[in-house]
Order: sequence, then structure tokens, then C-alpha cells
Amino acid sequence: MEETREALEFDVLFVGGGPANLAGAIHLMNLAQQAGKEIQVCLIEKAESIGSHSLSGAIMDPVALKELMPDYLDKGCPIEEAECRDEFYYLTAAGKFKMPYTPGYMHNDGCHTVSLSKYCAWLGEQAEALGVMVFPGFAGTEILYEPDGDRVIGIRTGDKGIDKDGNKRPNFEPGVDLLAKVTVLGEGPKGSLLRELGKKLGIFEGKMPQVFETAVKEVIEIPESSPFSASNTTVLHSFGYPLGLDTKGGGFLYKMKNNRVALGFVVGLEYEDPLLEPYQAFLSFKKHPLIAGIIKGGKVLQQGAKTLPAGGFYSMPRLAVDGALIVGDSASMLNIQRLKGIHTATKSGMLAAEAILAALGSDDYSVDTLGVYEQKIADSWIKKELYAARNFGQALSQKGFGKFIAIGAQYLSGGRGFTDPMPIEEDSASLKKISGTAAPGATPETQDLDGKLYLDKLTGLYLSGTTHEENQPCHLIIPDPNLCITDCYDDYRSPCTRFCPAQVYELEEDSAGTKRLKLNPSNCLHCKTCEIKDPYKNIIWTCPEGGGGPKYSIV
Ligand code: SF4
Repeated sequence: MEETREALEFDVLFVGGGPANLAGAIHLMNLAQQAGKEIQVCLIEKAESIGSHSLSGAIMDPVALKELMPDYLDKGCPIEEAECRDEFYYLTAAGKFKMPYTPGYMHNDGCHTVSLSKYCAWLGEQAEALGVMVFPGFAGTEILYEPDGDRVIGIRTGDKGIDKDGNKRPNFEPGVDLLAKVTVLGEGPKGSLLRELGKKLGIFEGKMPQVFETAVKEVIEIPESSPFSASNTTVLHSFGYPLGLDTKGGGFLYKMKNNRVALGFVVGLEYEDPLLEPYQAFLSFKKHPLIAGIIKGGKVLQQGAKTLPAGGFYSMPRLAVDGALIVGDSASMLNIQRLKGIHTATKSGMLAAEAILAALGSDDYSVDTLGVYEQKIADSWIKKELYAARNFGQALSQKGFGKFIAIGAQYLSGGRGFTDPMPIEEDSASLKKISGTAAPGATPETQDLDGKLYLDKLTGLYLSGTTHEENQPCHLIIPDPNLCITDCYDDYRSPCTRFCPAQVYELEEDSAGTKRLKLNPSNCLHCKTCEIKDPYKNIIWTCPEGGGGPKYSIV
């Protein structure tokens, strides 16, 4: 029998509590106030609190925040370092070469380093103060359409209190239908609602594939005696070791307040080696003499992982449909050339708010009216920035020195390069099959880890604060479990056991040699790497019960 559900109606519903939607909600309330209009605006977030699933680099270009809230510093915006002074290195296994010239787009003059989780929590407070109804702990699990039509009319939140076998627990609470004239999807990279919207309305058709990078990140407390504490430099970026020049990725280290640094390593998910493990690459980077010298004597305070959209301009989906808009990372608006997306996300949320206010004025929520948002993006500096970087990610994916030639050609031709558009391959299609008896080698998880500064995955997971209700249906859907232990093991040695940064997937073998893939879904960091990288597209990530997942507070 169909569950009886409560339905709540709003003018506008923002799904996801990241910078794009929070900025959108704030801007909308400000615009409505200026226009003397009273509107009901709701924002839901699957995390336990706003900011606790937000993890990023994060260097923020405040260009959009200054437009949104010129007095952001007076309002207590949590900035870690107000000024960015950069160094850029090419790393070999034991050496480093400081780049004599850093291209303009890599300069971070005028930018701030921030903790994205603290920043989003602060934005959430600003939104609430303006009257936005902010509900953390609610996961959107289904898009609602008008009966027999394609117009989005809201979303359904997930049921709470269902056990592993699908039965109701004593604390069962049915999900709620949140109905709105306009729904704004800002779920972050690889949104699960967006995936379903794509299937129904074809918003990705005619676009380049969505591609991603996975970042593992920590906040580390370093001793006052660290050379970095006294240094004038606040930002280090690196490429080269441990990935070399054939695999896209690199490291970063940013200064934070109170003798803390944010340290991270990013791996492009179009990598080809099925034995590569992004977490292991992070540890190798951390042990490089340049980084090890800075963090020596330190202690990891928090760890996390997430994916970043890397496809850019040519991967952007259609941004408006009847009744809904798509913003920020969900719309692939991160500028991969500048390694920044908070500013583009913020601006996209603001432009969405402007389009929504106009739609509310005309009481027309069709794609014809809401599509003004798409035009506003095209007329804004977002388009200018992303268009100039439209082939950059692809150039960076070239092997060896070919990448420098491709990047140089783009630099000189305003982003066009030798081929425009440069093709993009889906991340799930890039792994090369294992040859012979190749098997994963010993990993740093089994070597030389001290549990304080160098952590295995499970200790890192503990420091992410991740918890889920254990007695709930598994949120990782494996349509064909047999494939995992036949083709996927034979061809790739079960790469999910390596590309997942949280040890969710483990391959077990009994005394008879029978293999089984064991899942630990309560470890999940919600990074979505598994759905993106699985070579058979045999993993589907769905939202677990609202409130579960990491509890980032400083990363
Ligand atoms: Fe990320 Fe998937 Fe692992 Fe969860 S299970 S941490 S989404 S790779």
C-alpha cells in the first residue's frame, strides 16, 4: 500500500546545502525583500548539519561573494588566510623544481583560503537569518513530476527508519513531499537526483561526458617550528610525483589559522592503471620530502574525500527544465584551470535566484521563463572563465610532455588549442585490462603508518566523523554482484577496493578460493568515486538515510 505522506509547499526549494544553493537562497531573499515580495523558501541538505558534507581545496576567489554580500568580512565570514602567496612545484620521487613562471590563471592574488565546511555553515546561518527555512538531515531521494508530465514539482525526501531487509523499524518516519514552483538542484558533483533527471529529460544529451577528479584531504596541526609556519608562502601546488606525467593529478597545501594546514591530493579519474589507488597516491605525496618536512611532528585533525567535476564548459548539462534549475558543481561549473569552483557556484546560485524572481513575478515556471538563467550564465563572467578553460582538462590529460604543448597552444589561442572541442572519454571507460598475473602491491596502509600523522584508511575515516544508521538498506546498489568476482576481478582485480577512499569495498576469499565482494556501506564518505569509476557501471550510489555520512567541521 502506498505510504501516506505529508506534503509541504514552498515557492522555491533548494536541494543541497553547498555554496551555490546557499548563495542562491540568500540572494533570492534579498531580492524579494527589495521588491517587497514575501516568499517561502526552503533549503534541504542530506548532511546532519550545513557544512558537514562540504569538503574542498579550498581557495576562494571572493569575486562572487563580494557581489552577494559586500560586507562579508564584517558579517564574520570565516577566512583562514586573507592573502594567498603561491609556490608551484614539479616533484620527482626525492626532488623538487620550483616553477620559474606560473601562468596567470594559477595566481591566487586577492583570494582567501577557507575551510569549506566552516564557510558553508556560516552561509547557512546568513540564509536562516533572512528567513530561509533550512532543514539539514533530509536527503532528496526522488524527483516529483506533475502527473503524466515532465514538469518538476518538487522532491520526495527519503524514508527514515527502514531496516536492512526493507521492514519498518519502530522509529519509522515516511519521507515528505516537498513541493515548489521552482526546484533548484545543487547536489554537488554526480548528484543522484540529477542522474535521474538526466535519464528522464535528456539534459546531458549532446554534451561531453561528465568527468571527475577525486581528492583526499586532511587538516593537519603542524608544530610552530615547521618551516611553513614562518614562511611567507601560504599556498603550495605540485604536479609530477607520485603520478608522473601520464596521469592527471597533483597536490596542494594551504596555510590555515592556528598552525594548521590543509593538505590534499587530487587524481583525475580518467586514469588507466587499475592498480592505482588514489589514497595511496595521497600518502606518497605526503611522504615526499617537500611535504614531509613541513608537516613533521604534526597531527592529523580531520580527513575526508570528495570528487570534483572536471569536464567544465563542454560537459555542462542543460541548466533549466520546466520547474527546475541546476547550479554549481552539479552543473559542472568548476574552473579546472584555476582549480576553483566556489566563486562560479556562488555566482550561478545568484543568477538562478534572479531568474526565479522574474518567474515568480510572471507566475510562469516553464523552461521558457526559467531558461533566462541559462542566458544569464552565458552573459556572465562564468561563461567567460569556463570558455577560456574549455579544453584545459583534456590538455592536462595528455600523456608526457604532450600536455605542455597542448596547454601552451591553448594559452596562446584563448583556450582553443589544436582541436576544439578536445574529446573527453568517460572515466568508467579508461581502465586498461590487467595483463598476466599482475596484482596490487603492498600499500602504505601496511607500511610505516604511525596513526597520528600517517593514517590508514580506517583511521582517516574515523577522523572524518562518518556515521550512518547501520540497520538500513544498503545505499550502494550493485545490479550484478557476479560481475564483480568474475569479469571485474579477472580484468581489473576489483578496482573498487582501491579507488574507494573509505574501504567500503573488500574482496573476501574463503578456504575453497571462492571470492565475494563485501560492502561496508556505513564507511561511505559520499564521494561518488565508485559510481563514476566502476568499469562496468555496476555501482549505483543512492542517498542513505538523511543525517548520515561525514561530519566535517574544519576541512
Ligand atoms: Fe566514495 Fe563510493 Fe567509497 Fe562511498 S562507497 S566512499 S561514494 S567510493
